[in-house]
Amino acid sequence: MSRRTTRPKRSATAGARTPAITAQSPCPCGLPATYADCCGRLHAGTVAAPTCEALMRSRYAAFVVRDEAYLLRTWHPDTRPPAVDFDPGMRWVRLEILETTDGSAFHSTGTVTFRAHYTDNGRPDSLHEKSRFVRSEGAWVYSTAVFVD
Ligand SMILES: [Zn+2]
Repeated sequence: MSRRTTRPKRSATAGARTPAITAQSPCPCGLPATYADCCGRLHAGTVAAPTCEALMRSRYAAFVVRDEAYLLRTWHPDTRPPAVDFDPGMRWVRLEILETTDGSAFHSTGTVTFRAHYTDNGRPDSLHEKSRFVRSEGAWVYSTAVFVD
C-alpha cells in the first residue's frame, strides 16, 4: 500500500484531525484484538511482523493512526518515498485480506492481495492492490504494488 499524493504538504491542516485510536481501541486492521495487543506492538517496535500479512495489517493500521515513521521504516529503501502524505479528507474504514502467497517465517518474499475501504471526503471508495513484500536485513518490508486497480 503506497497511497500518497504529489500535492505539496499542507502543514497547517495535515495531521490536525488525528483519528481517535487508543491502546484499548479495537485494532484498525480488523483482527479481534486491541490496538495495543495487535498492530500497536509493531508500531512501537516491541515486536516485528512475523509474516507479510501481519506487516500488511500493521501498515494499514499505520495509515489509520498516521504513523509515518512506521510506514517509512517498513518500506524497502529502494522504493521508499521521502515522506508520506496523509490526505486529511481520507478516512480508512476497513481492511479485507483477499489472498496471500508465501510470506511466512520460511520465505524471503511474499504477496498480499487486499481491498482497503475508505471514504474520500465522505464518499465511499476502496483500494484493491496486490502488494509485494521482501525480507530486508531479516525484517519484512513493503516493496512494490504488483497491481493496483
Ligand atoms: Zn492489528
